[in-house]
Amino acid sequence: MAKHVNFLASDSLQGRGFTSKIPALEIAADYLEATVGKMGLQYKGNGYSQNFKLFESGKDEENTFLKIFDNRKDRVFSRDKFVVLNQKPVVVDIEGELVFIGFGWNDDNSGFDELAGLELKDKVVLISAGTPESYKGEFSHHWNNSLERNKTDKIFHAGARAVILITSIQDKENKTFGQISRWANNPEYSLEKTISDIENHLVIATPEVADAILGKKGRWKKTLQKIVNKEEPVSFVAKNKIQLRSAKKVEEKNGRNIIGYVEGSDADLKEECIVFMAHYDHLGMNTNGEIFNGADDNASGTATLLEIARAFNQTEEKPKRSIVFLWVTAEEVGLIGSEYYSKNPVFPLEKTVACINLDMVGRVYEPRDSVWAHSPKPVKPFQEIYTLVNDFNPDLKKIAETACSTLNLTPDFSLPDNFFYSSDHYHFHRNEVPILNLSTGYTADYHQPTDDADRINFDKMKKVAELCYLVGIAMANN
Ligand SMILES: [Zn+2]
Repeated sequence: MAKHVNFLASDSLQGRGFTSKIPALEIAADYLEATVGKMGLQYKGNGYSQNFKLFESGKDEENTFLKIFDNRKDRVFSRDKFVVLNQKPVVVDIEGELVFIGFGWNDDNSGFDELAGLELKDKVVLISAGTPESYKGEFSHHWNNSLERNKTDKIFHAGARAVILITSIQDKENKTFGQISRWANNPEYSLEKTISDIENHLVIATPEVADAILGKKGRWKKTLQKIVNKEEPVSFVAKNKIQLRSAKKVEEKNGRNIIGYVEGSDADLKEECIVFMAHYDHLGMNTNGEIFNGADDNASGTATLLEIARAFNQTEEKPKRSIVFLWVTAEEVGLIGSEYYSKNPVFPLEKTVACINLDMVGRVYEPRDSVWAHSPKPVKPFQEIYTLVNDFNPDLKKIAETACSTLNLTPDFSLPDNFFYSSDHYHFHRNEVPILNLSTGYTADYHQPTDDADRINFDKMKKVAELCYLVGIAMANN
């Protein structure tokens, strides 16, 4: 297992992601395929690889800009000054009359209503984040998403074509904008070349852009101040016209799951199976060139799975049901490899009696991990393990409990339900397959460049492998 982890989590594999500069996911998949091939695991179809296409949608610099037609000189803002949400993989042009309506705020108690009596159909609407009340108060970096959503929903409901939402003028360093822009600029991945069906174009920009729209530096602040001082709405049509162009670039990527199996020994029951699963991808590299090696997440599960496969393959008296080993890709970008498998399983999901997912199984608590003390899943000491289980087959929990006690491990079944969505087991859970997710928990190195092989506890991984073997045998013969 150490050999596998040391290879998969070495710098030369550049973090096994779509952002790696080399085809790192292909290299990792080749390694898995070669290893299971040498073992002699069985496969269905043409080989161990399950190939598919997925789509990466990211920024389209060329086709994203905001142009302001000023009677003196036109100004063009590129996408580092604003963010468009709900972008589509086609070029969308929005031109129209631009209406300023303050904070876009209405307050049922006081009767203050900035939307009252306005015709907003097909208009581009300009508003400030927050409310007149929050403008007066101390600035907090907290972005009140439900407030902003509430406000923009009403404006879109009134027929607006787009909303330009300006971040708080009190946010001098544009921290909020920076956060939103970082979040919105991450590429998205999906199995479908999705065209967002949301027609509402929401633009987030800074007060600098608002000043340019209003035609003069400082006018934005002055205008908001007027509303706040007079405690009454101010709205007007801006003199300058705008053009908003927005698009996303979509690129096709290759996805590859690796699947091998050991056939069951019972003529009928061998049509059923237990699936052992682990994702082999990780985060790749960031824009600074730092590598996220993902030794625990999830070279540990990947390597453990290889040796569980070897153990079942070498077992002379094969269990009654078949045992499937599934290494999935693209977990970190949205559980996509497992989604593809769940839609194209090699053994039907109705005949899959359990799915056991290994995701981060290589670490033991160290004092520095106390950064996660308040998380619901801090890394466990050596003798303990997280055992998330659903109740589609109550035997699975009993079997896991028995196997843990045989190995002197204390299982923790107490993780909250949101962990059903946290990793690849989700797509089996969703299809009512009994699932068991084994994990040693979050360490201080979780999703950090420091998740390295030298921090892995291989004795713990061995325990997890033994646990899987016992659970697998019991479930396969039950
Ligand atoms: Zn993971």
